[in-house]
Amino acid sequence: MNAMSNRAQPLHALLLSTLLLPCACGDSGGGGEGSDEANDGTGDDDGDESSESTEYARGITIDVLEVNQGVAVPIVAGGDWVPGIERNSAIVSGRKALLRAYWVTEPDFEPREIEARLTLTYEDGSTHEESIEVFVDAPSSPNDIQRSFYFDLVEEEVASGMDFSVALYETEPSSAPLPETLPVYPLDGAPAAVGVQSEPLELEIVIVPVHVQWPGCSTTPPAAELLQLFEDMMYMKNPTQSVTLSIRDEPIVLTQTLGSLWDMMAPLQAAREADGAQPWQYYYGLMDGCTTGIDGAGGMAFSTPPPTQEVDWQRVATGLWYGDDQWAADTFVHEVGHLQGLAHVYCPGKDADDPDPEYPHDDGEIGVWGFGLRDLQLYNPTAAHDYMSYCYSGNWSSDWTWTKNWNRIRELTSWNDGASPARAPQDILVGVIPDDGSDPLWWIANTRGGVSREDEHAAVALGRGVDGPTRALPAAMHRVADGDATVVSVELDGQPLEALSVGGLDVPAHLLSR
Ligand SMILES: [Zn+2]
Repeated sequence: MNAMSNRAQPLHALLLSTLLLPCACGDSGGGGEGSDEANDGTGDDDGDESSESTEYARGITIDVLEVNQGVAVPIVAGGDWVPGIERNSAIVSGRKALLRAYWVTEPDFEPREIEARLTLTYEDGSTHEESIEVFVDAPSSPNDIQRSFYFDLVEEEVASGMDFSVALYETEPSSAPLPETLPVYPLDGAPAAVGVQSEPLELEIVIVPVHVQWPGCSTTPPAAELLQLFEDMMYMKNPTQSVTLSIRDEPIVLTQTLGSLWDMMAPLQAAREADGAQPWQYYYGLMDGCTTGIDGAGGMAFSTPPPTQEVDWQRVATGLWYGDDQWAADTFVHEVGHLQGLAHVYCPGKDADDPDPEYPHDDGEIGVWGFGLRDLQLYNPTAAHDYMSYCYSGNWSSDWTWTKNWNRIRELTSWNDGASPARAPQDILVGVIPDDGSDPLWWIANTRGGVSREDEHAAVALGRGVDGPTRALPAAMHRVADGDATVVSVELDGQPLEALSVGGLDVPAHLLSR
């Protein structure tokens, strides 16, 4: 396999060399918040150099301090520490972070440079200090990186158990009286726990190239060239420490035109099984079908499976590439999102199937400020949309999706700490049953997995043996994530069947003769 190493770049250097931080929010019809572009660098962002002033700042306080590793997570609000239980999402150890502090000035504040000093204290007693001086002449604003005190932390600087403290200082001697409450945060003056989660978080995805050799189309997608973009988008939009992408050596070869992308699921499941794929691995078929859609779809995920090992064979999805690299990468993240258990997110004017009714933000908006650790873009809470919606302007992760993915990645990564239970392969009968009454698509998946035993999916199939009594077989039903159909799956027990029905549907007899 063409395994790819993870890219390690110091965010700090990128931020300092990129005074302009374009924002992907201006192109949206969503609620405008004015220009989100950073200014042209009037702030003094000279990084770690401290003025060594010991005079606390006058007339300016910190209102909100947030950690952003993809979505903003406030850890100070109204000057006070926000305990972990009240936070909108988790902070990931071993992942870069942008820490931003927003100021509030008193009416008589004279524009001048103010220094913010961040002190991080680790469990082993070591400390990390950073300092930044900003010329404060305007209200603080989240849509302009220069109108906040900001610190960029590299992977090693974000560790579980660390405490933080931020204090504001004058850079020139001041004769004004000291404020009654010193500008040291959290406000009680004691360093507080950042609340960084310690769990390992990894995403492993195998890209399966699809060689198309059907009439009128003979193509191979440029998987190797797309790998970096795919990894960047997956990493930026997921709370993970690493994304490991590999390209499967052996492609899937298609010599007949596909009726729909559902036809990709059986070969992808077979590829998983042939490779002895691990339960936490995702398989993604990448295809150039000489078209922008097959039966109306540019991407398809088999299911939104529960976080259990038995349904590992369901972690397959596919998507097209037709020359638009960003579209292909966005489709990849969206389809893998389904495999991470995410349903669609509603947004106005787009008819996404079965949107999740629990999504908390209006109109599919992401709800909090997003930040791309690799593209250094800010994403506006009311102009950017969750990537599980069909509104592609400012396509980003909400804090809600972020939290769901954090739980999912944590669970799947935890399986990678020992031997998985060895299971013998068995045949699972799969049927995709369209709502419109057209013919179901059936296939047999031979897999070490099984059907979901979770209540929301569990069903019973009734099989009648040859000259034998009717017996119940474990089965499951789920709605497809993309499209209008129900999928049934039945664990065949290896014993001959003369007839089988599941969900009131009779299975074609020729499928039972294996
Ligand atoms: Zn979808």
